[in-house]
Amino acid sequence: VFISFEGVDGVGKTTQVERLRAYVESLGRTAVVTREPGGTPLGVAIRRMLLHGVQADADAGTGNTVGSAAAPDGAAAPAAGSAKDAAAGSADIAPRAEALLFAADRAQHVAEVVRPALDRGDVVITDRYLDSSLAYQAGGRELTPAEIRDLSMWATAGLLPARTYLLDMDPAASHARLTHGEDRMESAGDDFQARTRRAFLDLAAAEPDRFRVIDAAQPVEDVWAAIRADFDALLGE
Ligand code: C5P
Ligand code: MG
Repeated sequence: VFISFEGVDGVGKTTQVERLRAYVESLGRTAVVTREPGGTPLGVAIRRMLLHGVQADADAGTGNTVGSAAAPDGAAAPAAGSAKDAAAGSADIAPRAEALLFAADRAQHVAEVVRPALDRGDVVITDRYLDSSLAYQAGGRELTPAEIRDLSMWATAGLLPARTYLLDMDPAASHARLTHGEDRMESAGDDFQARTRRAFLDLAAAEPDRFRVIDAAQPVEDVWAAIRADFDALLGE
């Protein structure tokens, strides 16, 4: 059984992932808990590039005599809050390159972790999957959701979760709950978080069989009760 958790930063995905892990284990089944980006050693390297950027001198020795990867004069400014903004002071990552890096992370994640675990009959619980790419990489940028989705379906050979829990709440509230600041992308503005939340809700509306939208502003126990009830029903199908 393949389960994904989605939602903007600070909605409590990690807490609920751990609740579900403990519950699955209490049923005597093996739970494999993982995440994107960064669910494999390759993914950790890709995550570092995506979140912290690539130093502008990293292309020394590539034969690239331009030297810096700065955008040419007149190039469009990147969309506010985009992942590549996270690389402030570093070489710019073009939107298509960024999308491919997320897709590469996902391809390795599925090949190395998710599929083998599903083949063993384990319950795989991932903190983010392709819907994050659709909500973040296709949000008001030069790539369309269809392109991102096709890329992801190619990268994963068509693997979709049986169930996706979208933890939804007002981004202003979720932002206030964030206690850590190591991920530069998490500091993106409230506008960006609000747009991303909308994108997630639209994805859920388009695939009501796969998605369950959970009100993440409820107390943690109530969020968990809603997920557990649905998960029990899913196992019973
Ligand atoms: O949830 P996690 O801490 O792993 O996410 C790190 C950041 O990466 C998030 O703040 C999110 O904005 C960004 N992200 C993204 N596209 C994805 C997955 C995550 O932009 N496909
Ligand atoms: Mg996070």
